Amino acid sequence: MLNSSSIFFKVIMTETDLCIIGAGPAGMTAAIAACEGSKKIVIFESNTTAGRKLLLTGGSRCNLTHTGKPDEIIRAYKPFDRFVRHCIYELSPQKLRDFFAQRGLDTVVEEDGCVFPKTQRASDVQQILLEELEKLNVKILYGKKVKSIEKRDEGFEVLSEKLDISAKSVIIATGGLSWPQTGSTGDGYKFAQILGHKIIKPVASVVPLVAAEKFCRDLAGVGIGNVLISCKIDNKKFSYAGPLIFTHKGIGGPAVFDLSREIAGLSYNNLKIHIDLLPAFNQLDKMVADLIGKNPKRNIISLLSQFLPKALIQTLCDENKIPDTAAGQMSKQMRKTLIEKFKNLPLTIISAEPIEKATVTRGGVDISEIDSKTMQSKLCKGLFFAGEVINVDGPCGGYNLQFAFSSGFLAGKSVLKQLE
Ligand SMILES: Cc1cc2nc3c(=O)[nH]c(=O)nc-3n(C[C@H](O)[C@H](O)[C@H](O)COP(=O)(O)OP(=O)(O)OC[C@H]3O[C@@H](n4cnc5c(N)ncnc54)[C@H](O)[C@@H]3O)c2cc1C
Repeated sequence: MLNSSSIFFKVIMTETDLCIIGAGPAGMTAAIAACEGSKKIVIFESNTTAGRKLLLTGGSRCNLTHTGKPDEIIRAYKPFDRFVRHCIYELSPQKLRDFFAQRGLDTVVEEDGCVFPKTQRASDVQQILLEELEKLNVKILYGKKVKSIEKRDEGFEVLSEKLDISAKSVIIATGGLSWPQTGSTGDGYKFAQILGHKIIKPVASVVPLVAAEKFCRDLAGVGIGNVLISCKIDNKKFSYAGPLIFTHKGIGGPAVFDLSREIAGLSYNNLKIHIDLLPAFNQLDKMVADLIGKNPKRNIISLLSQFLPKALIQTLCDENKIPDTAAGQMSKQMRKTLIEKFKNLPLTIISAEPIEKATVTRGGVDISEIDSKTMQSKLCKGLFFAGEVINVDGPCGGYNLQFAFSSGFLAGKSVLKQLE
């Protein structure tokens, strides 16, 4: 029931052309793209700052995109490649980099294709977006958590605790469910559902995996530059290359994140995986035998530490009851056992870490109900979606931010076209 104080404090009905929910990378880019002429645009943001998650990305360095031709980039989003096609062409990785370069922030490409700001600071990416919004007179309403969105005959009413706004169009850019402390608490799913949309169950993607083997815990924090993970899922063979890091519960890092995308949301029972810890070495046994032959008096663990971290070799020796002795005293069988573990370490994956710890959410607004050429809802005219709230996730390496920027850009441009 309304009481007199709620009537007194509520500011009701400012008229706008476009109301965007969420000032993450998707919402901010949408506003920039929609802002031409004298369009009245507001962004509701529940936090007191914009882009809180953006500031954490890439270890606060912000891996904002990945280098490559649009077609190669699009393929990496499988199974969502067809859906992302239009928006990636609309704002490709190169166009995104040009946008920042034109505003004084150059980007650099690392060896693996990941793109970062030259300054190595996520806050510089946030700053450029905020400066652009200020230049374009876009108002961000900070500390205003949207409670609901109601459809009217003409447009929408966006309702928050202290302010209601009417808007001709709405873009929902509220993010997913991962790292909810940054503001992405899944509100967009509720809004979309009430406006008629189906929500695909949100699950963790690009996330560390939990292994049954207890020795992983002892190795927490130990990383390997490049591994090759192989496994079979539903009788299909998969392999993933890249860095790996042991965690308190199992394994993480880019190669593991790619596997986590493959199994996101699937129910699997003790998935067996095999890790080649040294994929670059094909004749490792012979190499190690020669090395031992030349250095029989050296300690075996310190001798082999030129290949892998000492802690990992020590653990593998302990697990396989290989004594920490002089290299020359190691039996041929023991050497073969250790090399077998280096080349084919078996692990049992029992689950993924929870969605709160995932880099990104898979699931969300069903893509079959969104027009990929405009990001507009197929069910509700004037309603658009952008970013992680949509059931799209990409691999580790800048793809998720690229999708947030590209889908936001396309949604904003489409609103502008519709308003004109
Ligand atoms: C630790 C970490 C590191 C990452 N690193 C990378 C990386 O290096 N490269 C990469 O490509 N991706 C990375 N990601 C993923 C990437 O950050 C996200 O995919 C991206 O931020 C999604 O953008 P978005 O705008 O859709 O959502 P978000 O960034 O989540 O923004 C949504 C915004 O909506 C606001 N909001 C939500 N509900 C409401 C409401 N009811 N009312 C008002 N406002 C609301 C939130 O407060 C938030 O500010 C990382 C993720 C994490 C967690």
